[in-house]
Amino acid sequence: MAVDGREFRASMMTWLNEASAKYGSALSGEMLRNFTFRGQRIALIGQQGIRKPAGFTHPISIRTTFTPPNALPPYHDSIDGGGLETYKYRGSDPDHPENRALRACLNDSVPLVWFVGISSGVYLPYFPVFVVADDPELLQVTIAPLEGSARLHGESIVEADIRRSYAVTLAKQRLHQPLFRERVLAAYRSSCTICGLRHRELLDAAHIVPDSDSRGLPIVPNGVSLCKIHHGAYDADLLGITPDYIVKIRDSLLQEHDGPMLLWGLQRMHGKKIALPRSISSRPDRQLLEIRFEKFAKGA
Ligand SMILES: [Zn+2]
Repeated sequence: MAVDGREFRASMMTWLNEASAKYGSALSGEMLRNFTFRGQRIALIGQQGIRKPAGFTHPISIRTTFTPPNALPPYHDSIDGGGLETYKYRGSDPDHPENRALRACLNDSVPLVWFVGISSGVYLPYFPVFVVADDPELLQVTIAPLEGSARLHGESIVEADIRRSYAVTLAKQRLHQPLFRERVLAAYRSSCTICGLRHRELLDAAHIVPDSDSRGLPIVPNGVSLCKIHHGAYDADLLGITPDYIVKIRDSLLQEHDGPMLLWGLQRMHGKKIALPRSISSRPDRQLLEIRFEKFAKGA
């Protein structure tokens, strides 16, 4: 069946937006395999990384399997310091039909969805992404999360650089935040590590060492799942977590008298041990906790 690729892509991206809003940003492989377009089931992901359904001229998506919690997500080590990611060909033959189809996305500026695995069978979709370069020798293409990474007609190199670095900053934020959140929340089974609150709407993935610091990598051991109030208190240094996973409340706050939030939400948490992820590789890194705790101790 010949399918109008443009229409299909629009329908797929609209559906992904709606599904993300309804079910949370991460979607199960099962949902993605059961996508229907005009009454026909067309899986959005396939067995292989590059998904090109029969009858399509271009692929519709690429897929990356999940990385362990203590490893950087796939996009992080970017070439040329920007937010660009390389994506490996299928196999070692540059002329494999799927590799040729991927290359066609570069020539024809066709947008793709990039599904990044956050745990087994669960994916975070990024879209649209574009193939912006091809490297048959290294058997890979370069993916950019935003359109227009290439130099525009009539644009100077300096102008192109400014525009691209801006686009890349935006793209990195767009990629970084939701993936970090999903990975951290998954490790903590969607509950606050301090008080145990289980409402995802009220939970954040807090960085232990902030991402403005070169040590503040977007990996699970540099994160904790905190409810909004504990995240706010952590960032304001009203609350600290020791390298031994013990919650400390600032002295001055312990002396105050106020309502139930202060008493139950904060003061009673003093001395409590945080709940740790089961997987050791997901637990907070003690050195990172120490760096952060020193900052708290100075202000306390
Ligand atoms: Zn909490």
